[in-house]
Amino acid sequence: MVGANLGDLRSRLLVQCQPGQAKNAARVASTHGTGLVLTGRTPGPVVRALREHGFTGPILCDANRYSGRRRSPAVSGLRASWTAEQQDLGLVAVTDSGYLGEHDWLGLRRILTDASRQRGPVIPMLPLAARWFEHSVDGLVAELNHFGLPAAVAIEHPRDPFSVRYLIRGFLELLEAEVPILLLRSNVSALGALCHGAHTAAIGTTCALRHLYPRGGRGAPRLPSIAAFVPRLLDYRPLPTIATQTPPAWRCDCPECDGRPLITLARSQRPEASAFRHSLSAQLTLHDRLCRRPVPAAAWHELCGNALAEHRYLAESLPDWHPPTNLRAWYQLTRDALAEHVQLPRQPALGQDQRARG
Ligand SMILES: [Zn+2]
Repeated sequence: MVGANLGDLRSRLLVQCQPGQAKNAARVASTHGTGLVLTGRTPGPVVRALREHGFTGPILCDANRYSGRRRSPAVSGLRASWTAEQQDLGLVAVTDSGYLGEHDWLGLRRILTDASRQRGPVIPMLPLAARWFEHSVDGLVAELNHFGLPAAVAIEHPRDPFSVRYLIRGFLELLEAEVPILLLRSNVSALGALCHGAHTAAIGTTCALRHLYPRGGRGAPRLPSIAAFVPRLLDYRPLPTIATQTPPAWRCDCPECDGRPLITLARSQRPEASAFRHSLSAQLTLHDRLCRRPVPAAAWHELCGNALAEHRYLAESLPDWHPPTNLRAWYQLTRDALAEHVQLPRQPALGQDQRARG
């Protein structure tokens, strides 16, 4: 079974889903040779059902004790029974940590101490307030290096944590820790994280699983209709928007779409299921391509630049069109970092490949 040790998770883009979505998500994940993060309190029956149906990919379990109005604080510690249950299922265990507010060093040490006393393999889950990445990354890295444990992070933010440059800068510093870092509960920025050295990352199937919203905030926005991931824009858009405001020649070559125009998603007999599978498969396809590039970080930078150019082109004729702020932040920050550290090789642009097919 793949995923019984940490090494099996290296460079993988996982799909983070609710238990009720696991069967469909596993189908897409299998096509791309990857696995799942199951978010829920009782993953055992779902994991057993997936294995009985032949799913052999890695599975991580996210207890989600750190989110919602009644979230637990990190200082409440870890339950050994949660870790043991995952290991009995043959999985690498992720701890059921509570939320880590800014400067909660006591909570951080409680999680890491408890995790270090549990039998391995175990990954401490660190659900971090965004402000950890502003001034506290050095200390966070020092604690992780001291305990010598890998860490999975989810980052709280009212909108998108990767839309602010201090956070991307801090996250890239976190990746310099001597231990593997996993990014869970993310959106397309998970691809950027992997290109910059994250051990594993996960894209969520829903808004709530692509973000960690602050307690008492507005939470996940309620979209008026089904949305789908648009590869050229590196963003989700509602199906009616895709049908009426993006070029009809835009096709998707993910295994689910097999070259069909994106506008056909809205005409599908089951548009929600089609958009679900396409959105995951398209992001996994992009990840597969980025991994094959000589310098994935440079390829990610280029991909963000191409997507921003497409957004700007659409915004010329659509006044209400807003480019996603995370792409601009990634593009600006990685431009500076790459210019400083990486000799960019000449390579065909991912966006140019797509344009030729479109
Ligand atoms: Zn597709």
